[in-house]
Amino acid sequence: MIILKSTIELNNWFIENINEFVENMGFVPTMGALHKGHASLIEKASRECQIVVVSILVNPTQFNEKADLESYPRDLDNDVIVAEKAGATILFTPTPKDIYGGTPYAEPVDYGLITSTFEGLSRQGHFDGVVSVVDKLFIAVKPNRAYFGSKDLQQLAVVEKMSSERHPKIKIVSCDLIRDENGLALSSRNIRLSDAGILVAQNISQELQIVAERVKEGRDVIDSVEIAKQNLKNVEGLELEYISGVNDKTFSISTENRGWSHIIIAARVEGVRLIDNIEL
Ligand code: AMP
Repeated sequence: MIILKSTIELNNWFIENINEFVENMGFVPTMGALHKGHASLIEKASRECQIVVVSILVNPTQFNEKADLESYPRDLDNDVIVAEKAGATILFTPTPKDIYGGTPYAEPVDYGLITSTFEGLSRQGHFDGVVSVVDKLFIAVKPNRAYFGSKDLQQLAVVEKMSSERHPKIKIVSCDLIRDENGLALSSRNIRLSDAGILVAQNISQELQIVAERVKEGRDVIDSVEIAKQNLKNVEGLELEYISGVNDKTFSISTENRGWSHIIIAARVEGVRLIDNIEL
């Protein structure tokens, strides 16, 4: 694996190394502090592509809270190990200034419900930043395939929409959500939880699991979500932001038409904002 720290270094490497034998170049954008969830994306990309570019950029424009940006975990030494082991060809670590061509700035985007509900509502400007950075990274890397985790279900819908409009030749590959042995969805932010906080956070995936099982048994989905909501509200140390059924393509909460595909959730534990979801 080679580490390239700027778009100029990346371009030079492409000029020297990309030829007609490279059919597929895979791209895995990340914000670093890599864990097994990220590794699963890189492994999938390396099974499907000859070249895999993994980027690490803590993107300032997608943070709606300054404190979250400042405390976001950074661990490049470990990222190098994880990315290489998972099969990355290039670890691309540009600065925000390099990618944005100056002071980072995100144009507002409006994709209707998928940018205005849930994460779009709770984190004002978040998806503007996501769209902006992914667009700019796609321009810099020029992949054929780009890999995103379904852990960030709404982000996946937003990226698919952006890409279909601005980069229709890039295939967006959705990857499974990876959990730890206790069911907690892996996240770079989990590092900020204490042992007690991790136990509290486990309630999130446990309740999602119960909803999915109840629905499978034929119980009413709206009632099941309501029960989970009440249970989570009673968990000490957990601050529920939302739990809801949605359609993962439209982010509509209407149960009509195709109905709900997933239950999504956001909650805070020890000041750490956690999101999770389960497919129905
Ligand atoms: P991040 O570094 O948090 O911006 O995440 C980079 C990519 O990794 C995104 O596409 C995420 O959806 C994905 N990702 C993060 N955590 C997980 C996980 N637990 N399982 C699967 N994908 C994940």
